[in-house]
Formats: sequence, structure tokens, C-alpha cells
Amino acid sequence: MTPNIAAAKTALSHIEQDESPSAIRSKSRDFFWYSPLLKKWLDHVEADFVVCPASEDEVIEILKVCYAHDVPVTVRGSGTGNYGQAMPLAGGCVIHMKNFAKVKEIHPGRVIAEPGCVIRDLDRETKEKSGQELRMTPSTAATATIGGFIAGGSGGVGSVTWGALRDLGNIIRLRVITMEEEPRILEFRGEELARVSHAYGTNGIITEVEVPLAPAYDWVDLFVSFKDFSAAARYAADLANQDGILIKLASVYEAPMAHSYFQRVKPHVTPDDTLVGLMVAPHSMDGFETFTARWEGAEILYRSDAPTWERDPGPVFEFGWNHTTLRALKFRPEITYLQVRYGFPQHLELVEKVRETFGQEVLQHLEVMRENGKVMFAGLPLVTFTTEERLEEIVRLHEEMGCMIFNPHRYTLEEGGRQAHDQRQLDFKREADPKGLLNPGKMIAWDRSDWDYSKPYEYPGMKAAE
Ligand code: FAD
Repeated sequence: MTPNIAAAKTALSHIEQDESPSAIRSKSRDFFWYSPLLKKWLDHVEADFVVCPASEDEVIEILKVCYAHDVPVTVRGSGTGNYGQAMPLAGGCVIHMKNFAKVKEIHPGRVIAEPGCVIRDLDRETKEKSGQELRMTPSTAATATIGGFIAGGSGGVGSVTWGALRDLGNIIRLRVITMEEEPRILEFRGEELARVSHAYGTNGIITEVEVPLAPAYDWVDLFVSFKDFSAAARYAADLANQDGILIKLASVYEAPMAHSYFQRVKPHVTPDDTLVGLMVAPHSMDGFETFTARWEGAEILYRSDAPTWERDPGPVFEFGWNHTTLRALKFRPEITYLQVRYGFPQHLELVEKVRETFGQEVLQHLEVMRENGKVMFAGLPLVTFTTEERLEEIVRLHEEMGCMIFNPHRYTLEEGGRQAHDQRQLDFKREADPKGLLNPGKMIAWDRSDWDYSKPYEYPGMKAAE
């Protein structure tokens, strides 16, 4: 198949397009560069053109035209994904969702929105109009879109109470367009949601989302310090287990992370302070303070409801999840990270094993989450990168210890996930994208049925560097 780029571009000339080479380049890139390996493999990747639909009809038209001219299509929300999810490996068309961003309906317990809606704007509108907020948001809520979160994200601020994004009940309904000669409009609920959620837009384009809401609060942001990392990890997990205390975030940052990389926190900590970042509901503050007073060595350094610091640190959630890595990268470009699952009931024990094995080479950053009703940790440790071989070895050693790694140094769904293909996503791709034009190169199972994951997958259709 040879794409006819010029014909597709001309046929879509009545829909807004980003024409300048610099805009095309920037809209072809996401946060893949967190990984030194993805940086090496994907830095040259670029779309041929960028088109910005404002409605579902325009999305359908783009898909129809690109199908007719064999042009690959990669959707882009805000391009904040870390796994190279939105990188158009084969070039072609990037559909930018910035103009397709309305909040459509707000009801008790749920909201319906267009996919390009920026999460912070969506949250603001539901709060103002109904006193409700999204159950969970990525720490990139200020820029990321709700469609990108559902197609590429996994959870975040709120997951300590509500679990992962793909857990049953955290997405209610998705409207999806197929990439066929005559694109179809499908509505997915229940079991069908797994076909397209966290599928990187490889098998359909989401044009409407319906997600649940929770009561909104003026969350109190807090930093609590400990001299002992293990005590801090236990404290964060135990706090999440307090049934009567409502929290939205519990992050643990091993020393000396806060002192080295959190600029506005630095004057208030020493290099041996491990920090816990928290969001607590205002009506839970009495319970929270009583709980914290029981912990020897816990010191409340900052609380947003009674601030004493000369310089406001900003939202505590913007220190958590993958913002921790971003802050470290600003000081030490050789830092990279991993995504680790420390499952219940071994979570505390596994973290200690990993610390003993790697010491300062792998500094612990934990996010407390709920998984099947049990408190556990999502780890986003900071790794000092030396060589590719050592990075692979660090991944292997984690796996040998019993940790699951969602490898952020790979660009395919399978390698960034459970090292196995998702049959539901593959089956739906066969049905919805017969020419294999949607975000090509991201689903190994579409290209190869015999892949054994012993080495990184190299997509043969990747556009060559010029
Ligand atoms: P994009 O990066 O633009 O797209 C993500 C994927 O979704 C791509 O494969 C894209 O093709 C696909 N896609 C986008 N829109 C559609 C659509 N309408 N239909 C079909 N496919 C579509 N992730 C978390 O889960 N939790 C976090 O807390 C978190 N924190 C982060 C912190 C930092 C500093 C950074 C850099 C990243 C973080 N991420 C996190 C990753 C990312 O920010 C989120 O997943 C975010 O929700 C992605 O939204 P986006 O609009 O930027 O999506």
C-alpha cells in the first residue's frame, strides 16, 4: 500500500490543518523522550500533515478520505503520553482533537464530553455546574484530554480510592468510529469497553466519552516528612486503608528526591527526608490529624488550608505520578524511570527487596492505589540511566523479584503492558481497521502472531530518518 498523501490532504483542505513545518513536527511528538531508548528510536518520527476536526462528522470524513488513499492515521489529544503512544511511526495524518472539545451533558454521577476536552476544563465545568468532579485524573490534567486519558492513560489522582481507569465502572460508555470504506459509529459499554480503552487509538477513534463523577471537594494538599522511608511507605498505605478518611492522593518520594528535585519544597527539607504528598478531603482533616499524630516521626510540613511557606509549592498532585520524573529530569537529564506494580499483599516487602538490590540507582517513588479493593503501590521509580544493557537488566531483576513492569521503554501496547496481546483489541482491529491504518506499529499482534518478546519489537513500517 502506497499512501497518496497529497490527494488526502487536498480532499481535506476545507477542514482546519496545521501547515507550518514546526507545528507539524511538534504535533507529531509526545513525551516519548522520557525514555533514552524511545528517544533514540523515535526522535525523527513525523506526520505528513495535521488536521483538526471540530465535529464527529469531520472525523468520519477524515477517516473515509484517509482510508480511500491508504493514509495512516494517528489521533492526538495533547501528546502528553510517555510510551510514544501518539507518535505517528509511519507518518501520514495526525488528527488533532483540540477543536472537538465540548462538555455535552452533566448529570448526577456522570458527564458526557467530546474527546478533545482538556481534563482540567471538564473538571472545572462539572464542579461549577453540579458540585461534582471526575473520580480520577492524570497529573497532567491541566493539559491532557479526556479522550487521550481513556485511550492512553491508566489512572492517577483519585486511583487511591477508585482504582485504575480500566476497572469496571470507571468508564461508562464510549462512542467509537471505525476506519473502513464507510466508517461505522459504534457505542460501547460493559465488556465492550476493553476493546478500545487503553488501545492507543489503534482500532477506532473515540468521539464521545461518558464517565462517572464523584462529589467535588476543596481538597487539602499536604506534605508530611519522615526520616525513615519504610515508615513513610507504611504510613501512606495505612492512611489509604482508613475507611473513614477520604483521600485523593498518597505519593511517597524517597530521600533525597524532595531535597534534590522539588525546588519550592527544598528550603523545608533535608537530604534525608522522605516525603509523603497527600490530598485529603476537608471534612476528613480531623481524622487525618489524629491518624498522623499516632505515627512517630511523621511531621506535617505543609498544608494548603493553613499555608506558612513563603513560596506556594503549587498543587501537590503536580509532584506526583509522572510529574516526579519530569521534575527530576530538569536537574539530571540522565534520569529515566520505570512503571512497576507492587501487588498486594507483597507490596511493602517487594519495595524493600528492590531498595536492597539497587540502592540509590533506583530511587523509590510510590503512588498508593486500590486494586480489587486492596491497597497496593504503583511504583514510578527514578532510575539513573547508564547503558541500555543495564536498563534491561534492571527490568529483568525487578521481574525476577516478582514485580510486574509496564515497560515505558517500549512503544507497543503489548510490551508496555503485560507482554501479551489483548485478543479483544486485536479482534476489534480486524473488524474496524481492515487496512491496518490506525496508529500503525503499536500493536505487535496485528503485524506478527509469533512474537516472543525476547527483544524490543522494531516496527518494519517505521518511516526512515531523513
Ligand atoms: P495523547 O498523548 O495525545 O494520546 C494518548 C494515546 O491516546 C495515543 O495513542 C493517541 O493516539 C490516543 N488517543 C488520543 N485521543 C484519542 C481518541 N479520541 N480516540 C482514540 N485514541 C485517542 N498518565 C496517567 O494515566 N496517569 C498520570 O497520572 C499521568 N501523569 C503524567 C505526568 C506527566 C508529567 C506526563 C508527561 C505524562 C503523564 N501521564 C499520566 C501520561 C499522559 O499524560 C496521560 O495518559 C494523558 O491522559 C494522555 O492524554 P493526552 O490528551 O495527552 O493523550
